[in-house]
Amino acid sequence: MGSGLSVAGNLAALLNADVCWRCQACMAACPLVGVLPHYAGPKRLGPDLWRLQQASSDLRQKAAMGPDLDLCLGCRRCDVACPAGVEPARLIALNRLSFSHRHHKSTAVRDWLLGHPTWLGRLGTTFSRVANPLLGQASTRALLHHVAGISGERRLPPFAPVRFSKLYPATSPLEVAGKGSPAEKHAVEQSVERPAGQGEGEPAGQPVARVLFFPGCQVEYYEPDLGERVVAALRSLGVEVAVDEPSCCGLPAIANAWPAVARRQAERNVERLAAWIEQGFDVVLASSSCGLTIRTDYTGLGLVREELAEKARLVAEHVFDLGEYLLQLERRISRATGRRVRVVPKPEGEIGSETLAYHTPCHTVARGEGRPWLELLRRLPGMRVLDLQAGCCGIAGTYGLKREKYSVSREVGEGLRSALVAAGTPPVATECETCRLQIRDLVPGATVAHPLVLLGRLRWEERAGDPAGGE
Ligand code: SF4
Ligand code: SF4
Ligand code: SF4
Repeated sequence: MGSGLSVAGNLAALLNADVCWRCQACMAACPLVGVLPHYAGPKRLGPDLWRLQQASSDLRQKAAMGPDLDLCLGCRRCDVACPAGVEPARLIALNRLSFSHRHHKSTAVRDWLLGHPTWLGRLGTTFSRVANPLLGQASTRALLHHVAGISGERRLPPFAPVRFSKLYPATSPLEVAGKGSPAEKHAVEQSVERPAGQGEGEPAGQPVARVLFFPGCQVEYYEPDLGERVVAALRSLGVEVAVDEPSCCGLPAIANAWPAVARRQAERNVERLAAWIEQGFDVVLASSSCGLTIRTDYTGLGLVREELAEKARLVAEHVFDLGEYLLQLERRISRATGRRVRVVPKPEGEIGSETLAYHTPCHTVARGEGRPWLELLRRLPGMRVLDLQAGCCGIAGTYGLKREKYSVSREVGEGLRSALVAAGTPPVATECETCRLQIRDLVPGATVAHPLVLLGRLRWEERAGDPAGGE
């Protein structure tokens, strides 16, 4: 099976691979290299193998690397480390997708399920009353371990009793065409706390921005309350919020090597999201990995047809993680109004600690837009926020759920575990859902939440100083 890239895309990837000057910086940055001494590493699995794939028809030689391709965490730390601009992680993902026909028989069903989280999510939420207690039982976990290949040591997240889309049905782009839905405007009029100066001369109820919230699988099937918080937080800032239909970004299909599924999801998302963006909406997510996938993989992995490439680029420019979006919005409003405004938190209830720890997900590092949630958490009054800086947590999405990967996943996360314990196990904030899952496993009893949960409600605050200035 080919990579899915166009001829031009293939050539660009080959040129990218050819730039590698073998400095080994990616090897030093890879969290697996220190844990698995036999792991071939980003240089060999990325640029070296890509060149080999293009140049050689010797299938045995290529197939020899197959198992190691499957070991890669997809953390993209190698991409960040490479001084030459090679993207080893992208090349590894391309190589893995082209080996997709090699699913091992014993794990094919498990990998299919993990690659299709919407199936699992629908099933699990429908039968959550039965499924959740069962998932907690040792006998079920043993069965999952031995029969399904899901590690029995991994504590799986409970399914939500009610799906997010039942609480917030998707808005149709037609409903808001041109001027915004009356219901949204009403919500804005009721709850907006405008930044001073914003909206002057505009009709009452005019939103400060228009956002389509993409819930993704996590909010839809596991954390609908997080989705409710996102919608409420944006609305309290005067943002008009529409809710997207439940859909997956495609990352699990990419990670579990189901290229046809990933392509279908990517094309559907591009068509739908582009329609919203053309109406003036930005797309906001509460998951760092979903956003990165939509932003970089749809074109980077050749998941959309050539005729959709333009729309995919438009979508990539308008997709934001919530934290990144909030900081961008305050800069935009400050410039537009000539007044320096910023988003400040209003914690709900006691956090129960004067210290918080922040863990940076690898995909936030890979996005290259700083660490907005750390900046926002530091605005919590009287709170000491520790920046853990402990590297990859090791779970890498569905990777750390797999029987044969669980121990590697924990070993990679050991640095994070010891940093957290050394800090006295304060509550931890991180914007990646699977990092949260891993931290709960690494440090049983730890309080772990999305940063928005700890920030509570949000409001605008006007500050003295230059509107274009930094902190
Ligand atoms: S993506 Fe992460 S695990 Fe994979 S090769 Fe790169 S650094 Fe290593
Ligand atoms: S860091 Fe970049 S240039 Fe250096 S070996 Fe890795 S891929 Fe090649
Ligand atoms: S990041 Fe994970 S949970 Fe979120 S949409 Fe993508 S696959 Fe689904």
